[in-house]
Amino acid sequence: MATRKSAVRSGKKGGASKGVNRPAPRTEKTPRGSGAKATVSGRKAIPKAEASPSSAKDVGAKRSAPLAAYNAKRDFALTREPAGTVPRARGATLHFVIQKHSASHLHFDFRLELDGVMKSWAVPKGPSLDPSVKRLAMEVEDHPISYNTFEGTIPQGEYGGGTVLLWDRGTYEADEDGDIAALRSGLERGDLKIVLNGKRLRGAFMLRRMNRPGRAQWLLIKRDDEFADASRDIVAEFTTSVASRRTMESIAKGNNVWSSKD
Ligand code: MN
Repeated sequence: MATRKSAVRSGKKGGASKGVNRPAPRTEKTPRGSGAKATVSGRKAIPKAEASPSSAKDVGAKRSAPLAAYNAKRDFALTREPAGTVPRARGATLHFVIQKHSASHLHFDFRLELDGVMKSWAVPKGPSLDPSVKRLAMEVEDHPISYNTFEGTIPQGEYGGGTVLLWDRGTYEADEDGDIAALRSGLERGDLKIVLNGKRLRGAFMLRRMNRPGRAQWLLIKRDDEFADASRDIVAEFTTSVASRRTMESIAKGNNVWSSKD
């Protein structure tokens, strides 16, 4: 964020003036048009050059910019969740993940990879295989792709404090032969049609944004296909982790392994 950036910059300046260049302020006070002109303009050019986005730090800031909201909510000294940065472009395969999360209210975090981040929704009741069931999905901040392997506990008192279980994961694509442009426009229009290829969820789903004020609320709906099944309660059926086979209870009790290799 701009405030953060400027704080860092002014901090750097303060550090520099404390150190080596004691005479610098005097030089800056020299009136324009004096004999010291060339030196002054030379010195002034330096900060401008520093502001150009060529240094590694600036590149890092750019890569984390889309996840600024995610990073601002978390203290990475206290939580084991990954810090948010956007990786360089990867292959064409897009991933999805669903994390069961017992925070202040139990919900399922539904995340779809797009443009280097995980677009995220909190679904209080979790997904359904019944096309007549519409599940509320509250849009939340984009998450880093590295979050896809997170399973464990977030300390109480921290943002999202509670247990996180990897409930499902896999790949997904745009429905109806759509491409990545279809995903982007679907997200923008609030009418996103996708096909999931997970371990537990398969087939066509849609996310439809409701026309309501405030935080964006969507509906997650199974579309009718061979994977639709109104007789099953998939959330009750599967209560263990797809990564570690642990239950919420066993994850909460300890052994909070960071299973990035799973
Ligand atoms: Mn959550």
